[in-house]
Amino acid sequence: MNYIVFDLEWNQAADLKAKQENNLTFEIIEIGAVKLNEKKEQTDDFHELIKPQVFHKMNQVTGELIHIKMEQLEGCRSFPDVAADFVKWCGNDFVFCTWGNLDITELQRNMDYYKMTPVSQKTIKYLDIQKLFSIAFEDKKSRRTLQYAVDFLDIRKEVAFHRAYADAYYTAQVIKNIHDDSVFRNYSFDTYCLPRNKSEEIRILFDDYSKYISREFPDKIAAMEDKEVVSVRCYICGKKTKKKIPWFTNNGKNYYTIVNCEQHGALKGKIRLRKSLKHNKTYVVKTMRQASPEVICDIINKKRQVRESRKEKRKKL
Ligand SMILES: [Zn+2]
Repeated sequence: MNYIVFDLEWNQAADLKAKQENNLTFEIIEIGAVKLNEKKEQTDDFHELIKPQVFHKMNQVTGELIHIKMEQLEGCRSFPDVAADFVKWCGNDFVFCTWGNLDITELQRNMDYYKMTPVSQKTIKYLDIQKLFSIAFEDKKSRRTLQYAVDFLDIRKEVAFHRAYADAYYTAQVIKNIHDDSVFRNYSFDTYCLPRNKSEEIRILFDDYSKYISREFPDKIAAMEDKEVVSVRCYICGKKTKKKIPWFTNNGKNYYTIVNCEQHGALKGKIRLRKSLKHNKTYVVKTMRQASPEVICDIINKKRQVRESRKEKRKKL
C-alpha cells in the first residue's frame, strides 16, 4: 500500500455574487502530491497547475498566500484532465494523506462539478497528518500549521511553503518523522460521501474511544429514533450499560449521555448531528469514551444549565 500525500491550492469567488452564480465555492488551481511506499520512502511525485474555468480573477487573499498569478495558469490544462491523471497516478492500493481535513472534500466537490467518475462512492478513510502530528508530539487536540510542525521537527526547508507540491513534500517529511506505527491507526473519514446504507456505516475502535458514522436520515427526528444511533452499549466489551444521565441536548446539535458498564465504569456518549454536504440531510457522528469524574461533572453542569434555561423561558411566558 502506498501513501498518497497531496495538497491542493484553490481560488475562491471574488465576491458573493460570483459565489452564488456558480455552484462552486473553491476552484482547484493546483495539485501537488508525493507517493510514499510502505517503508515511507518517496517513490514518485505529481505536480500540475490548472487553468481555471469558473473564476477568472484571482481572489486577493489567495493570490498573496500562494503566489500564483492568473497569467501563469493560461497555458495549463483544465481540471478534468489534470484530476483524471492524478487519480490514475494514485494507483489502486493507497491511502490519502493530507494536512488538515479540507482537501479530500474539495477534490471530490470539484470532480462532482465536472461530473467526473468519483474517486470513491464510499466514505473515504484517510490520514490527517495535522491530527497525527498532534497525537505523536503534542496533546492530541491542538492543530498546528504545517510550518510549525516543520520547525518543531527541525526539517530542512528546501522549498517555499504554500504551494501544493511544497506542502505535500513537507507533509510527507512529517510522516517520515512519526516513528510510532500505532499513531497511523488513527484514521479520519471524509464525509463528503456518506455511508449509503446500514452495512456501509462506520464503526471504528481507537485506543481510547470509539466512533460511529451513520448513514443519512431525512431529518433529526428520524436520526434520533434510530436504535443504533442512540445505542449505549459499552464500546469496549459490547455489553449493555446502565443509564446514569440519558441523552440530552444543550443546543439541538450535540447530545450527551453518561452510562455505566459493570466492567469498564462510567462512559460518556456524544452525538453530533451534522448536515450532509451533498444532499443536505442529517447524519450522526457518535463517539464513546471512558469518563473521568471531571468529565461527569461537566456533563452534569451542562444538564443543569439546560434545565435552568428552560425554567427561565417558562417564567417569561
Ligand atoms: Zn464494558
